[in-house]
Amino acid sequence: MALSQVAGRLIGVRQHVVDPGGGGAHRVPHPVEAVVVGGGIAGMSAAVVLAERGVRVTVLEAAPTLGGRLGAWPQELADGVQANEHGFHAFFRQYYNWRSILRRVDPELRFLRPVPGYPILSADWPTEEFGRLPPAPPANLLALLLRSPSLRLADLRAMDRDAALPLLTYDPVRTYAEFDGATADELLDSLRLPDRARAMLFEVFSHSFFNHEAEMSAAEMIAQFHFYLLGNPEGLAFDCPDEDYGTAIWQPLAGHVERHGGRVRTGVAATRLDRSPAGWRVSAADGSAYPAGHVVLAVDPPALAALVTASPVLAGAAPELVAAMPAFGTPGPPYAVARYWCDGDVDAGRAVFSGVSRQPTLDSVTLYHRLENESRRWAERTGGSVLELHAYACEPGVPAEELAERMRAELVALWPEAARLRVRELRARVEAQAPAFTPGGHAGRPGVRTDADGLYLAGDGIRTDFPSALMERSAATGIVAANHILRAEGGAAEPVRSIRPRGLLARR
Ligand SMILES: Cc1cc2nc3c(=O)[nH]c(=O)nc-3n(C[C@H](O)[C@H](O)[C@H](O)COP(=O)(O)OP(=O)(O)OC[C@H]3O[C@@H](n4cnc5c(N)ncnc54)[C@H](O)[C@@H]3O)c2cc1C
Repeated sequence: MALSQVAGRLIGVRQHVVDPGGGGAHRVPHPVEAVVVGGGIAGMSAAVVLAERGVRVTVLEAAPTLGGRLGAWPQELADGVQANEHGFHAFFRQYYNWRSILRRVDPELRFLRPVPGYPILSADWPTEEFGRLPPAPPANLLALLLRSPSLRLADLRAMDRDAALPLLTYDPVRTYAEFDGATADELLDSLRLPDRARAMLFEVFSHSFFNHEAEMSAAEMIAQFHFYLLGNPEGLAFDCPDEDYGTAIWQPLAGHVERHGGRVRTGVAATRLDRSPAGWRVSAADGSAYPAGHVVLAVDPPALAALVTASPVLAGAAPELVAAMPAFGTPGPPYAVARYWCDGDVDAGRAVFSGVSRQPTLDSVTLYHRLENESRRWAERTGGSVLELHAYACEPGVPAEELAERMRAELVALWPEAARLRVRELRARVEAQAPAFTPGGHAGRPGVRTDADGLYLAGDGIRTDFPSALMERSAATGIVAANHILRAEGGAAEPVRSIRPRGLLARR
């Protein structure tokens, strides 16, 4: 254990138990049917827990492959088939619930490899390196303040320290009551930081949640600072799979669910919910129908709104859910992901993953040929490289190829040698499925339990009363949904864990 972790532990920076689980039978004592709509992290986490407890669970996934925004699929290229993915993902070490699901298929998590470094690049300012901070607070914060090239002593003196205090006093109720009405932009303005520090240390953060700081709730930004930097003992260190997500995660997890008696149906889109003698009936686009006592809707926000609108029974059965949908179903800004198979490589010293600050479009760069085995083999065979560029909150209405071109030009401004790369193949997509975290949105954000019996929600837009975000929130809400079902049916619940529940300086 690092020294900062030992010190942090003394002040409660450690893993906390949200729900100890247990309390029922190893397997549900009578037949229970459940349908999970959506085969991403949230849906598959729910399905894993339910199937292990003997619930007859069916997962319906609309796409031909599992994984949703962490999906992977075979991509035809001129020189053969390569796995392509929905985009690079950092598996942070405080993702306790997601990692516990992944341990079902790899108990030592050997497929996750540490990614050294976490640089933030800028065309105007020196590189910020998050990867070299001590893992746990308060040492990581002190090191950041002392070592960061983006912050000088004079900046700290000029900063409004009272305005910065909320970053250290995160509280799951008070923070939202006080700051959900403000934007992250307003919070950052109030700190009176120089532009350099604001761009390099803060804006990069809001973009990672697929939101512009001008459109993101200040409370959500404080919550995410707590979750990623100021409240967990693992810090900003992360790992990544060394194989594509289909091979490393989805095929093994589907096999696990099926071995426990569950069914996983891909290419089957749920179209509506109705009441049935069993409780619910989920109808699908292929004409099939699935009666079940419990339903977990684990789809992205726009898909949830569409499914709720297409299910008239919910107007009477779940009026609060219906009322929450117009706002919840409106996603954050579009994001773009472009993968380039190139002739030539960038400099050997470039980091596997880099965040990017203040470029108009580009938000991150990943060198896949230094990360995943298949890309590595392709690069060795061809002498080339496999790059992926992301834009997390981009201008609406711009075609994917145009965004890919802009991102490549912006990369050249940061890494001049990238101008020499010749792109052999490009696959670019632009989508809008991420939840929006708009100011004032917290009160109306749906939680796992809906106002209808036997109907639950899971996903990264769903509210939790413990710190969580992104992949970890999807897994945690999936497990919480499964636990509601298990407790209702006499099965033992799954433990749920999180980080320190409040900020280091939060009042009790
Ligand atoms: C480019 C990119 C990079 C990211 N990087 C990170 C990162 O580094 N770290 C991190 O923690 N998170 C990251 N995320 C966020 C992460 O991907 C999401 O938080 C997570 O995957 C969401 O999982 P989910 O199960 O909640 O939703 P989804 O993955 O959206 O899954 C929902 C599933 O429901 C299916 N579906 C929709 N409608 C229906 C229907 N009617 N019937 C049946 N199925 C349906 C969809 O096809 C989909 O498979 C990133 C996301 C993107 C896009």
